[in-house]
Amino acid sequence: MLKRTEGIVLKNFPFGEADLIVTYLTRDSGVLKVFAKSPRKIKSRFGSSLEPLTYSAISFIGKEDANLPKLTQSDILRPFHTLRENYLRFVDISDMLQLNIKFLPERERHTEFFNLLLSTLFKIESDSSNMLYTLYYRIKFLEIAGYLPSLNICGRCGKRIDGNLKNSTPENGGNFYIAHGAIICEKCSTDLNDFIRVSTAALKFYMSLVKWQLSNISRINAPDYLLSEIGNVINSHIKWLTEHR
Ligand SMILES: [Zn+2]
Repeated sequence: MLKRTEGIVLKNFPFGEADLIVTYLTRDSGVLKVFAKSPRKIKSRFGSSLEPLTYSAISFIGKEDANLPKLTQSDILRPFHTLRENYLRFVDISDMLQLNIKFLPERERHTEFFNLLLSTLFKIESDSSNMLYTLYYRIKFLEIAGYLPSLNICGRCGKRIDGNLKNSTPENGGNFYIAHGAIICEKCSTDLNDFIRVSTAALKFYMSLVKWQLSNISRINAPDYLLSEIGNVINSHIKWLTEHR
């Protein structure tokens, strides 16, 4: 059966002498691995369309239960090649792609994840100096997946944390307990360890970030220390989920 959809290349992996296994995030079939015959040969009809991040219209054939459908066509809609040019930026974006591979079951249609990735890549391409997009992406990904950490109420007793912070100084804040994926108040955390201290400013920044739309991000100029504080919480949370889920 021939199928057509759109896909963003998450990764590719050499197979045999000249073939590739390509993992896509597709609009209609979620994460999908396909077999690409001889793309590594010169003058392959696939050209550069199988490079990570490339957004293409693809066709593949294979029975519904075939474990590796065969790619028959891939026409580039957007190469996103500028996003591969800056190494550090690309490492950051590769982490976004990895999230899809790690968290999403194969061949389960989930258009929200596809739209989030595609629209974020377009934004990063047009506004490459703003480092907030990749953090925003991680937060929104976790939200759609149902793993968004709670930073405004105690993960145990439900007490509002921001209520505590009214008269606090910027050095105050909350403790994010990695194994609980939440801020836990002092009363509830006497038997716990392994936390990350999060400043009041970072907690407030996070709560706004969760509410903002992608289209607003270009107007926000967040200081580096907030990005790195929240980035650290989110990355620790993702790492813990990856290891324990
Ligand atoms: Zn509590």
